[in-house]
Amino acid sequence: MAEFETIVQLENIRKDYDGPAGPVQVLKGVNLMVREGEMVGIRGPSGSGKTTLLNMITGIDRPTSGRVTVAGRTLDELNQNELARWRGKHVGVIFQFYQLLPTLTVLENVMLPMDFCRVWKPRERPKRGMALLEQMGLADHAHKLPSTLSGGEQQRAAIARALANDPQLLVGDEPTGNLDSKSADRIFALFEDLVKQGKTFLVVTHSQSLAQRIPRVIEVLDGKLHENGSKPSS
Ligand code: ADP
Ligand code: MG
Repeated sequence: MAEFETIVQLENIRKDYDGPAGPVQVLKGVNLMVREGEMVGIRGPSGSGKTTLLNMITGIDRPTSGRVTVAGRTLDELNQNELARWRGKHVGVIFQFYQLLPTLTVLENVMLPMDFCRVWKPRERPKRGMALLEQMGLADHAHKLPSTLSGGEQQRAAIARALANDPQLLVGDEPTGNLDSKSADRIFALFEDLVKQGKTFLVVTHSQSLAQRIPRVIEVLDGKLHENGSKPSS
């Protein structure tokens, strides 16, 4: 069997938020290791800390204590600016509500991370953007505004944007939660394809039927992680 590198490592991550009655412990010392090429599902009740967990991994937020290492970088070594550039290159984030910029065309949305990170030369960016939109079956919609697309199409545009800089790691926060089951199924099949192509994928999902298609599922419960519904692992 091929050797796989660790792409995500969380070591004893605690995350507190300030609540009206003092600090609220959302993550109470969690450990997680994800290998390159894995697909990992994340489940848990609303408010259990799934988004918080993803925010630790993407560097969108910082832990109260503990160490996060992603794609070989220890994130607490990076300042806010470095972190934004690092994320733009190494992590593609897909949200439930797509978060496409409404005044930009679909193609311009996809090119935005390329313009920010400058991995590709300016003249290569439109070509790459179009290739990604073609891959998502959206070539005909490239010059339209996002609001003229269906939910499933907007999510596919958001996936194209997440792939703009060819990141190793993709993260989805309930990316099919706002779609009908047929569109959700299609989006999920795209995720499975990306994993087959070697991407690592972490995805929060409430859907039982989608979670069943993921070999490794982690449950967030009472500030701890539980693997595949078994006993607490960390
Ligand atoms: P989930 O994604 O599983 O629904 P979240 O990670 O969004 O849960 O939130 C976990 C808990 O942390 C919730 O109780 C939420 O209210 C709280 N929380 C999340 N973000 C913040 C914040 N920025 N400030 C204060 N409390 C927060
Ligand atoms: Mg959430």
